[in-house]
Amino acid sequence: MVGTDRGDLTRTAILALLGTVGPLSRTEIARELDVSPATVTQLTRELIGSGMLEELDLKPSRGGRPAQRLGLVGDAGRALGVKVTADHLVLVDVRLDGEVLGSWERPFDPASTDALGDLGDAVASVLGGLEEGPRLLGIGIGVPGSVDDQGVGTVNAPTLGWQAMPVGERLRRRLHLPVLVENDVNALAAAERLYGRGRTHPDFLVLTVGRGVGAAIVADGRVYRGARGGAGEFGHLPVDPDGPVCGCGARGCLEALVGTAGLLARSGAHPGAGFGSVAELGAAAERGDAVAREVFAEAGGILGRATAGLINVIDPEVVVVLGEGTAEWPFWQPGFDRAVRAHLYPGRRDISIEVEGWDDTSWAQGAAALVLATPFDAAGTAGEQGRLVRARLIGATP
Ligand SMILES: [Zn+2]
Repeated sequence: MVGTDRGDLTRTAILALLGTVGPLSRTEIARELDVSPATVTQLTRELIGSGMLEELDLKPSRGGRPAQRLGLVGDAGRALGVKVTADHLVLVDVRLDGEVLGSWERPFDPASTDALGDLGDAVASVLGGLEEGPRLLGIGIGVPGSVDDQGVGTVNAPTLGWQAMPVGERLRRRLHLPVLVENDVNALAAAERLYGRGRTHPDFLVLTVGRGVGAAIVADGRVYRGARGGAGEFGHLPVDPDGPVCGCGARGCLEALVGTAGLLARSGAHPGAGFGSVAELGAAAERGDAVAREVFAEAGGILGRATAGLINVIDPEVVVVLGEGTAEWPFWQPGFDRAVRAHLYPGRRDISIEVEGWDDTSWAQGAAALVLATPFDAAGTAGEQGRLVRARLIGATP
């Protein structure tokens, strides 16, 4: 049984430090964590013994003895990430160092009478066929909605028709594994914190475009969740009082204007235009179709104005743009850039806005990062489930 004694806290802090800043020498670890070199020597010996740390190259030094650096072992653990959508699930098996070991897609109906039973079946079937490898630390679930608390996992998601769905509780009972549940955009932010921009920028904004529009706010290295876990619903920023009705019931939300349905409606308003999918609209823009290009440019302008407002409020160092909609980003960009620059508060105009690579498994990778980030979370955001993940990593049987 792994308790909460000082040694465990310091072990977690060592993992967190190496996970976020990269390899360090024992002396550097002792200095950063303000603990004695003897304690660091003892705890790192245990962590090396349990296969979580390894000795790397010698760090060159001027005079004195070169110091041995220690780093995390990538295959010390793995997590299964699951992205829940309105018609399918994407599951992905990811190592502690972010390497993807496998991915699966399964049909899913969130309106089914036993949707959570179906979700448990899908996860169990993938778990049953996992290849041998690192220890499974837990399951991360990303949902398009708000989640009360990662370690509890009760979900409200209008796009899935879910109200107070006990996702975490049901899956934990079914799978006997730690389960963390989080809003899908917040999960992407956790992945950015662990493997992307967030390693070097503690204050950043994640923006997603695609079927919907979303945001995650990372302040001081932590995802800001709000009072009910619902922070970051950027898609429901009111933009146009005469705009189309949104899925949330209000009129003229940002998402209703520039999400997939909004883009297609916008193209349909042009006589003789009308496209069946955003991919078709993108292909037309690629061919130089004037209507398609105008639709993206207008959408880029609307999103850019709204984003400038958000940047002015939050003051992030960097904005990372993600989501399936980034495939057509070159057509959004001219309108977006112009609108953002025109509305940014003076002094923020040099902010870096970066569009990152995207594929079908990216959402699910974010969900896996919820679990993989837990050992590096010395503050214990994920509560009891996070403690169980850390116990599995250290090899104890809770
Ligand atoms: Zn709305």
